[in-house]
Amino acid sequence: MAESMDTITSVREMNEWARLQIPGRKTIALVPTMGYLHDGHLSLVKKARLENDTVVASVFVNPTQFGRNEDLSVYPRDPQGDSAKLEAAGVDVLFMPDAQELYGPDYETFVDLERLSLPLCGKSRPGHFRGVATVVLKLFNIVQPTRAYFGSKDYQQLQVIKKMVRDLNVNVRIIGCPTVREQDGLAMSSRNTYLTPEQRKQAICLYEALMLAGRLFATRESDPNTYLQAMKDRVLAEPDARPDYISLVNPETLEDLTTVNDSALAVLAIRIGKTRLIDNMLLAESADINQ
Ligand code: AMP
Repeated sequence: MAESMDTITSVREMNEWARLQIPGRKTIALVPTMGYLHDGHLSLVKKARLENDTVVASVFVNPTQFGRNEDLSVYPRDPQGDSAKLEAAGVDVLFMPDAQELYGPDYETFVDLERLSLPLCGKSRPGHFRGVATVVLKLFNIVQPTRAYFGSKDYQQLQVIKKMVRDLNVNVRIIGCPTVREQDGLAMSSRNTYLTPEQRKQAICLYEALMLAGRLFATRESDPNTYLQAMKDRVLAEPDARPDYISLVNPETLEDLTTVNDSALAVLAIRIGKTRLIDNMLLAESADINQ
């Protein structure tokens, strides 16, 4: 019978656990999340379970990555449900600290990426990636993982973390995982729960706009404006949809493309009513259309 999952809430205890893994040289996977888990999160856990000796999942709604007028206080939470799902998925340790445990009253150190954190979500959510990079580096230091798993649904976040790890020589392998979608194509997200049934129907416009970009890429269209117009028209066909951004960027640098050649990232953030949803699709000869 599999051993039951441990839940750890203190940094000291989590550190202690990580130290105990070293003598046996066990590989440690880390899957950082903000909880309210869905099948997208669990796909990361599943991959981590297959590739490592031990799996740590963290559930922490990180206050430093939320702007003042964002949804921190109403962000959906279900610690008991999350714990049951993680245990069933074979997680060894659930790390679930509270905010005081990670940010004391005299906290003052942050990680800032000077270029990658500026466009796209960085523009509409100033300080967001500073909070993300900081908490992820803290989790890396606390858990000491061999590999860490992140979804490409949050593509810019994945790039920011890969770059941080390279720039700061952090000894961890970052594994990007494909986006898990609902049957109609909407990317799974804890924030989908904010949508009314009518808004949920309209939210399909994100995926359909990306599919239009995919079709244009298949015809070897080279003008970014053709893609952007097609995506914008699809999104604006929904009465409650307001684009935050719709972009076609270089998948590495995230800079706007002036012409489309071998690869591009179609990426968008759309407000449906008050709910802000993001999605993206990598356009490349060999790209998995479902990434
Ligand atoms: P979150 O709880 O939203 O911070 O997400 C935690 C991790 O799960 C991040 O690495 C996300 O990119 C990943 N994730 C969220 N939604 C999905 C999805 N639909 N498919 C795959 N991974 C996802």
